[in-house]
Amino acid sequence: MGGLFTGIALNRAGHDVTIAEQSTGDLRSRGGGIVAQQSIRQFLSRHDIVDPTKITTRASERRFLTANGAVRTSTADSMVFTSWDAVYRQLRAAFPDDQYHTGRTVTRIRATDGTVRFADGDQTTAELVVAADGGQSTARKQLFPDTEPVFADYVAWRGVVPEAALSDTVVDAFDGRFTFYQGEQMLILAYFIPGADGSTAPGGRRLNWVWYDTLTGRERETIFTDTTGTKNQLSVSPGQLQAPVETRQRERATETLPPVFADLVAATARPFVQAIYDLQSPQMTVDRACLLGDAAFVARPHTAAGTAKAASDAVELKAALDRHSSLGGALASWDEARTNYGGRLVAQGKRMGDERLSLGS
Ligand SMILES: Cc1cc2nc3c(=O)[nH]c(=O)nc-3n(C[C@H](O)[C@H](O)[C@H](O)COP(=O)(O)OP(=O)(O)OC[C@H]3O[C@@H](n4cnc5c(N)ncnc54)[C@H](O)[C@@H]3O)c2cc1C
Repeated sequence: MGGLFTGIALNRAGHDVTIAEQSTGDLRSRGGGIVAQQSIRQFLSRHDIVDPTKITTRASERRFLTANGAVRTSTADSMVFTSWDAVYRQLRAAFPDDQYHTGRTVTRIRATDGTVRFADGDQTTAELVVAADGGQSTARKQLFPDTEPVFADYVAWRGVVPEAALSDTVVDAFDGRFTFYQGEQMLILAYFIPGADGSTAPGGRRLNWVWYDTLTGRERETIFTDTTGTKNQLSVSPGQLQAPVETRQRERATETLPPVFADLVAATARPFVQAIYDLQSPQMTVDRACLLGDAAFVARPHTAAGTAKAASDAVELKAALDRHSSLGGALASWDEARTNYGGRLVAQGKRMGDERLSLGS
């Protein structure tokens, strides 16, 4: 996403941009819900990509439930949601195919002269290299080898369910609302997002849930070892949770969640899990290379800021390049502003997460 935000912003400003994406698979089929922050909606409309109302759903109430499902608090609150795949699809369509290369894995970046090496032995040189290669960034490991993700001692179990697979009771409970249940060292929330085909009409949407939970006595390695036996660091994809891990979490849902949330988890065919972690790079640029989006900073999802930050990193990079006559000057001013912002966001995410899960740090 960060690569596409940057590619579109710089391409439209007349720069000659190439995106190298390691994946050959269909990224569109993955991902869940995201809060459609203003920076995302502005990016889509200002670049004439899509009218954001066409790919978003809305809630007008923030509701907390009690353990037995009664309404504990209800507050008027306007929230806009979308899905990772709906935004990705629009961004991808707005970037020229002949400048977007899949199956291109970057293995090394030489920041001093902008040389990029690929896994197939090929190499190229660019005036500016933007590494938007995510939380496990190869570029960051190379530029800042001491910067590591720090596990926050809890995980996010997640799921996305087509509206048609839900009972009327569940649809009615969540429709038009951002709904939460705060339990003992856990927090679950749900909201409607567009359907897999992008539909935002009632009946064609999906219900997205995120359940922050501690490890509940399990080893992290047990949860993150998938059906192929691979020990993942940060996530297990839909359909790849080991059966005993999935069964235990489903049982926990029945035992601990309000009935509508328990029903929602039960209706989820392929739940998945992501580790919650903090990641903070000391800076975002080195010579002709910069880290953007999750590659530089990952704030906990309570901030609902990952995709929005990638969009604003990209917009601000383009603005800095416009403002400054030299690349060095542009990168220095962008780095200072965005590193400060990223640091503040990570700190905010820690406060929000530790408070909401009562982790006491
Ligand atoms: C498949 C997927 C689903 C997601 N779903 C959600 C979601 O539902 N909700 C949410 O809030 N956030 C989601 N995210 C995270 C969210 O997209 C990010 O917080 C935000 O978009 C900023 O991410 P990014 O672009 O910096 O990094 P990412 O979105 O992690 O993208 C990094 C990209 O770099 C590519 N890459 C990595 N290493 C290399 C390399 N060496 N060479 C070439 N390419 C490389 C990856 O294949 C990936 O496409 C998802 C990310 C992915 C990849």
